[in-house]
Amino acid sequence: MNPAVEKLVKYLRLEESRGHDDGAVLGGLAKMLDPWRSEAREAGVPEALLQVVVSRLQDYGRLTSTSRAETLKGLWKRLEEAYPELRPALGAAPAAPAAPEPEMRPAAAAPAPPELPPAAVELVESFDATIDDHEDEEDERLEMAGAGQEADAVRPPAARPATPASVDSPLTAVPGIGPKSASTLKKLGLETLGDLLWHLPRRYDDYTQLKTINRLWYGEDVTIIATVEELHTRSVRNGRLKLVEAIVGDGTGQLRVTWFNQVWIANRLKPGRPLVLSGRIEQYLGRLTMTNPEWEPLERQQLHTNRIVPVYPLTAGVTAKWLRRVIHSVVTQLVPRIQDPLPQEIQRSAAVIPLGVALNQVHFPDSWDQLKAAQSRLAFDEMLYLQLGVQRQKLQWVSQEGQPMPVADDWIERFKAALPFALTADQERALTQVRADLANPRPMNRLLQGDVGSGKTVIAAAAAGMAAANAHQTAILAPTSILAEQHLLSLRQLLPQAAGVPAESIRLLIGATPAGEKEEIRAGLQDGSLRVVIGTHALLEDPVVFQRLGLAVIDEQHRFGVAQRAALRAKGQSPNLLVMTATPIPRSLALTVFGDLDLSLIEQMPPNRLQVQTQVMRPVERPRAHQFIRSQLERGRQAFIIYPLVEESEKVEAKAAVDEFERLQQEVFPNFRLGLLHGRLRPDEKESVMARFRAGEYDVLVSTSVVEVGIDVPNATVILIEGANRFGLSQLHQFRGRVRRGEQQPYCLLIPDSEHEADNERLKAMENTDNGFELAEMDLEQRGPGDFLGTRQSGFAELRAARLTDLRLIELARRQAEQLFEADPLLAAPKHAGLAAAVDRFWGGGKGDIS
Ligand code: ADP
Ligand code: MG
Repeated sequence: MNPAVEKLVKYLRLEESRGHDDGAVLGGLAKMLDPWRSEAREAGVPEALLQVVVSRLQDYGRLTSTSRAETLKGLWKRLEEAYPELRPALGAAPAAPAAPEPEMRPAAAAPAPPELPPAAVELVESFDATIDDHEDEEDERLEMAGAGQEADAVRPPAARPATPASVDSPLTAVPGIGPKSASTLKKLGLETLGDLLWHLPRRYDDYTQLKTINRLWYGEDVTIIATVEELHTRSVRNGRLKLVEAIVGDGTGQLRVTWFNQVWIANRLKPGRPLVLSGRIEQYLGRLTMTNPEWEPLERQQLHTNRIVPVYPLTAGVTAKWLRRVIHSVVTQLVPRIQDPLPQEIQRSAAVIPLGVALNQVHFPDSWDQLKAAQSRLAFDEMLYLQLGVQRQKLQWVSQEGQPMPVADDWIERFKAALPFALTADQERALTQVRADLANPRPMNRLLQGDVGSGKTVIAAAAAGMAAANAHQTAILAPTSILAEQHLLSLRQLLPQAAGVPAESIRLLIGATPAGEKEEIRAGLQDGSLRVVIGTHALLEDPVVFQRLGLAVIDEQHRFGVAQRAALRAKGQSPNLLVMTATPIPRSLALTVFGDLDLSLIEQMPPNRLQVQTQVMRPVERPRAHQFIRSQLERGRQAFIIYPLVEESEKVEAKAAVDEFERLQQEVFPNFRLGLLHGRLRPDEKESVMARFRAGEYDVLVSTSVVEVGIDVPNATVILIEGANRFGLSQLHQFRGRVRRGEQQPYCLLIPDSEHEADNERLKAMENTDNGFELAEMDLEQRGPGDFLGTRQSGFAELRAARLTDLRLIELARRQAEQLFEADPLLAAPKHAGLAAAVDRFWGGGKGDIS
């Protein structure tokens, strides 16, 4: 038969089998007319027939379903007249096909019933269509998962769930999913139908290019419609590899298709039965072939071929095809009944498409543009819920009755006059912000952010002084005893003079504090004679009771969890909270993950601070790095050498550290004293090593990265970081901040443990910029938000569609959230009920307290 006519026939059959949804060709049947016309002309189709086809089909997309059926009927007649050989074949494709199965209906077209209550997502009726042909998958699934799933596969389609399914229904509400499949899907975190709906494809294969075999090119991703002409199976490699080989043809040519280790396919490929095959065209012995293509019978609605095909994250025992089919069924059945929680006006002003359309298109996109619109709608939702939750958190926080702690201008003047240095402009601003927060009856909830050495401590000291001036106590939490001790020294130096707080009313409570002294401190805190207590976790664990805790300061906030912050806050009555961090937080995260906190930035360093001269060196240059360190040591300076945590196990890692330490001591620095820190040391051992380094008893501190080296050692001028490629730039920047404390020129040497170009290119940024924020932005770009989340990650790591780096989206969602919040902070209006429920759903499951 004429190949162009044959092709047209295939399209028309496909269109009929889809229930005339104009979906046989992406973008509509009319889309194929231009290319088809030239092909048909070439193939000698009579001009008159050409005209008929074109004129009937060019407006096909605009017709109602009945008129479409009529149109095709008429067209069949004309085709049969011109090509009588079509007649027998047409019997298989009746001109007036039976009413399409409910599942075949495009779900987006079905309007959501408006009278449903908000957030109602119930199915009015239960699933009436089963996962089509699920028994077809039986062999496939048995091969993948072993015999275990047989029970599910033979579940009769008639077994309907007793109650209507909703997004909260268990997976077993889907016909074709039994308890066994459900427990397999649980490994993907899928437990409800809603989970399936939001199980988004990880990528998409573009099989929209429908081609005839004579037009295939090597390397293309294409779809062909062809018939199996020959079929056989054989074993190679001593039977270890089984092949199914088929020769398929479409009238324009033949193509060899091979499937590996999927023998069951041979039973499904009936010679003579038209198939849709999608995949990449390869070459074997000079001939074009396809290997392991996706395929499905032509009569069926195409999910796996001839479209933009979703590719889902899978787990053992779940095949791509099966999951696609299950999700398609759920999308088709459930989506039309999901109420869009976004009020119309927000949809309009944010320019996003309706949720139902988005869910449909994100799973089974009709075009790349529609996919993009779908993804951005889903991402917008997540970001909006996130913003609404964060703002709600903030509102809860500030609506508490706090303890105002104002100070007069002359108090501030006296404080500043007593300092041994003038504050930088950034410190001044931070001080003003903290002062205003404390004067306010709402509790402070502020994040003070500044590089290592930028001078955050003095701000915390001022806050503690203001608290004391108002007869309130302050608790300062530090991640290590060394840091706590350092704070004790600083505060005892600053506060007596600057704020009139006696040195003996500032105390240290750490694990190593003798029991008797602890007892005495506890008594002092309880009766109010102690003003400031600085401590580590011990402060939380001990039954410490404050007379009047007005301020809680947390240093290096990322080292503490939600529970610890909450425990500290619980020791007072809505105390003011100041958290400090040396990790620069990119703007996108400051607006999201840290959006419930007010932010103070210290960007500029105290004057006369020398920039750390940084150099990235290749592993072969290590001897030169060691030589440089020796030259510094000979001038009486000290050095850090940092190793990354490479091994999963601390034990192995500790052994490696010990070995490396001994080698360095004996072979590289035999004339110097080296100290070693690693994660397996007891806390008191670590403390003593650090104390000895600070006291100058060690020249070099060799340390693994697990150990916090946030200690003031002004005499340390050089830091060598091994395996530098394993760290984020922000982390490296913090490490090098450790040698910026003194008056000598500091140096940082970075040695990656790979010669990988891209890795080492990334490190070059360390040579070029000293700006922690720039480096943080680069980290976020290159490594994702993980480095910044610390203990806040619970909810934020679970975003499915949104990216925490998408500043445009974040700002869009934030604007919308702010407007909403202004109008209806509790989302109490009836039109916001759906939204309120969606926000609760999003923040459910342990994402509640983020501060
Ligand atoms: P960090 O932000 O890392 O906690 P610190 O508060 O420990 O930094 O300050 C680092 C050092 O800089 C301290 O020795 C401190 O006394 C000093 N310092 C802080 N602010 C100034 C300033 N404005 N001028 C000069 N030195 C300052
Ligand atoms: Mg500090």
